[in-house]
Amino acid sequence: MMQMEKLVSLCKRRGFMFQSSEIYGGMNGFWDYGPLGVELKRNIKDAWWRDMCSGHNELSHPQGAPSPYEMVGLDCTILMHPQVWKCSGHYDLFHDFMVDCRESKKRYRFDQVRGRWVAAKGQKIFVTTMVEADTEHEDVTRKALKFFNLRNKDADQLAWDGGFKSLEKIDMSDRASIMAPDAVTLGTLTEPREFNLMFKTYVGALSGEEGAAFLRPETAQGIFVNFKNVLDSTRVRIPFGVAQIGKSFRNEITPRNFTFRSREFEQMEIEFFCHPNQSREWYSYWRNRRMAWYTELGLSGDRLRLREHHEDELSHYSVGTADIEYAFPFLAEGEYGELEGIAHRGDFDLRSHMEGKLDPKTRPLQLERNEQGQPKHRGSGKDLTYRDDLTNERFTPHVIEPSAGADRATLAFLCEAFSEDQVPDEDGKMQSRVVLRLNPRIAPIKAAIFPLVKKDGMPEVAEEIYGALKKHMNVFYDEKGAVGRRYRRQDEAGTPYCITVDGQTLQDRTVTLRDRDTLEQHRIRIDDVVSDVRQRVGM
Ligand code: ATP
Repeated sequence: MMQMEKLVSLCKRRGFMFQSSEIYGGMNGFWDYGPLGVELKRNIKDAWWRDMCSGHNELSHPQGAPSPYEMVGLDCTILMHPQVWKCSGHYDLFHDFMVDCRESKKRYRFDQVRGRWVAAKGQKIFVTTMVEADTEHEDVTRKALKFFNLRNKDADQLAWDGGFKSLEKIDMSDRASIMAPDAVTLGTLTEPREFNLMFKTYVGALSGEEGAAFLRPETAQGIFVNFKNVLDSTRVRIPFGVAQIGKSFRNEITPRNFTFRSREFEQMEIEFFCHPNQSREWYSYWRNRRMAWYTELGLSGDRLRLREHHEDELSHYSVGTADIEYAFPFLAEGEYGELEGIAHRGDFDLRSHMEGKLDPKTRPLQLERNEQGQPKHRGSGKDLTYRDDLTNERFTPHVIEPSAGADRATLAFLCEAFSEDQVPDEDGKMQSRVVLRLNPRIAPIKAAIFPLVKKDGMPEVAEEIYGALKKHMNVFYDEKGAVGRRYRRQDEAGTPYCITVDGQTLQDRTVTLRDRDTLEQHRIRIDDVVSDVRQRVGM
């Protein structure tokens, strides 16, 4: 089995993630977190909130930051005034290109269809597929053989020309030679068409356009529209950041790769407001700070990278954008998937909500107008500028936006943590085990407590330890089965420590503490268990 398949099956078997509404056949692009998964994801969100917001010390001067800064939080609604999305640009611009297949009636995201040129019997075609990278060659070979009416043993008659490329890279004048992912004839794909990703719903009893509203596709806009409320209700001064964690919704055309691309997901976003003169320095501060956060929590090595966008890739408002990317095991060799984007957004967002939707093609940015010369989408008209009470200077702050996905982070930590090794069992025989080497801070269960056997007063002592630890953290009590099996179960759940009450405990009130990664066991006093484990897991 491939590593990813093993991880997906572990996630289901041990209750990290389940397909939403599974008993009814599931729903594509929606995932539920099970008892272990909810703890893991919550720990990741809590670590983010603590490290970025509530635990930030505004009196300190962090290394690499232009100055000390403040952080506050918000929790905004999912449905907002429809004008928010008109001014932000999402109403007009938030779309993907998709193609439809006339033969299979299926719809694909244009940039996700991949294929290869192949020639045989004097004809050259572009065979496409939507399967995962590790089976795409197999898939297109099968389809090409079928198309050219060749048998498996004639595979050497297929002359491949170049490697896999995205449909985006193919000249659309070659359309007649393209075989769609689920078609058997050529030229069945339509021209790419735009498709808005926002889910639409209706508020109250109004069913027409009057009551129409959108489920937010990002949490950021809630922060911008509350900028003035935050300023007026707190004593924050620029530079400061506002953090928010919450659900976002995007009607992705082809949700896939487990939770990586879902239709309902959670974001962890910061909008950081600063003086325009300092925004470039803040941009590099946040880029490095966010990269360090993933490393501190266990993503490392060459699977994690920071990629600065090229100029032609930048959003219309951005002076600079960098992505933090991870080489997920479901991607092709050498490919990376986005975990977080850190964007320098200039004054685009605050100006849009003051003046109205800006025309992305203008430099400097100007209001987009309709044929009558009126603003295409009118802004709030509220003053969202900032006055520095020390210098008396008034300006529209610039924004740096580190925007992360809680589900993608959870998936990356799981992928990084998943490993298999060989460990000796009770009789010293080597056995293979599956282990999640999660950082203790995010591990769903911090410690498991076992009585070696279910008698001689051992369960009573173990229950006492369990009760003492449970007050501080999520721990697990298990007295069923062989102790080796109990260790294995905890290894699979990513539990960093196992505490076992044995015969010696009853004589000297010590227990063994086993380390998931080093497998070392040493004896500690029962009275020290709480402080010892708290120190090890950092709580
Ligand atoms: P992609 O190019 O992968 O669609 P994006 O560039 O549109 O992502 P952003 O709009 O920058 O993503 O959103 C910020 C973060 O939100 C992403 O880095 C990702 O972690 C998360 N995110 C975005 N879309 C999804 C999704 N469909 N499922 C899960 N997480 C998502």
